[in-house]
Amino acid sequence: MNRISDLVKSRILVSDGAWGTFLQQKGLQPGECPELWNVTHREGVLDIARSYVAAGADMIETNSFGGSRFKLGKYGLADRVTELNQAAAEISREAAGSEKLVLGSIGPTGKMLITEEVTPEELYDAFREQAMALEAGGADAIVVETMSDLDEAVLAVRAAKENTLLEVICTMTFDKLVTGEYRTMMGISPSDMIKPLLEAGATILGTNCGNGMAGMIPVVEEIRKADPDVPILVHANAGVPLYRDGKTIFPESPEEMASYIPELIKAGANIIGGCCGTTPEHIKKMKSAINNMFSKV
Ligand SMILES: [Zn+2]
Repeated sequence: MNRISDLVKSRILVSDGAWGTFLQQKGLQPGECPELWNVTHREGVLDIARSYVAAGADMIETNSFGGSRFKLGKYGLADRVTELNQAAAEISREAAGSEKLVLGSIGPTGKMLITEEVTPEELYDAFREQAMALEAGGADAIVVETMSDLDEAVLAVRAAKENTLLEVICTMTFDKLVTGEYRTMMGISPSDMIKPLLEAGATILGTNCGNGMAGMIPVVEEIRKADPDVPILVHANAGVPLYRDGKTIFPESPEEMASYIPELIKAGANIIGGCCGTTPEHIKKMKSAINNMFSKV
């Protein structure tokens, strides 16, 4: 399988959309473990994966965002990391076939290094266990995502790089400050993350969640300015969430999100997909926006 960072040299790639909000639509209840669905509701999870392949995604993620022993431990499932992550990768592999790529998703553990509630060794071990299970299930790459602590992100990237043969991608979540600059919750800027994550073994960097498409453009510009070469992946939310009648609503339509594609590519994005609130329809529209741009050339 071609490494993704080689594929981006010849074209813009399309990634998939949301999993968490899609699982909720399929009936995942608050307080239920999303990753347990890989064995209890396999068909539902497979259907999500297939719907993104059908929408035209070049790569799809796995239902394993909260698959670390720390996150699974909240549901009493800490001893099922290997089983649930391997199942996640197998489901996405089945949907992707041999043509499309599978990105094994690894999210934050929810444990804070800074308060010493967890040691770096414990985090490394947890990420190693998860990454190896995703590789065993057939993932082509690992995507460490939604990170706000750079030290945790570095440990996750290193653990995946040192214990699997897979390419490692890392995306962090940035919010806009009143000054107009972007920082993670832990105060990391888009340019701060580049050197430590590349040294840890990541080959593709980027940003996910937190912002709609418009908010991703300055983040991508900052990364591209600091590093002219690193492939950049963007998984944008369908806008900034609104709370209405006790429900979370993601306001950006597929057309609206797709309208930012030319600017996002101009800023330097190489791989574009969606995060919370995005659907197969959003991915389909993004894909055709990309196709339109390049068919005119
Ligand atoms: Zn998100």
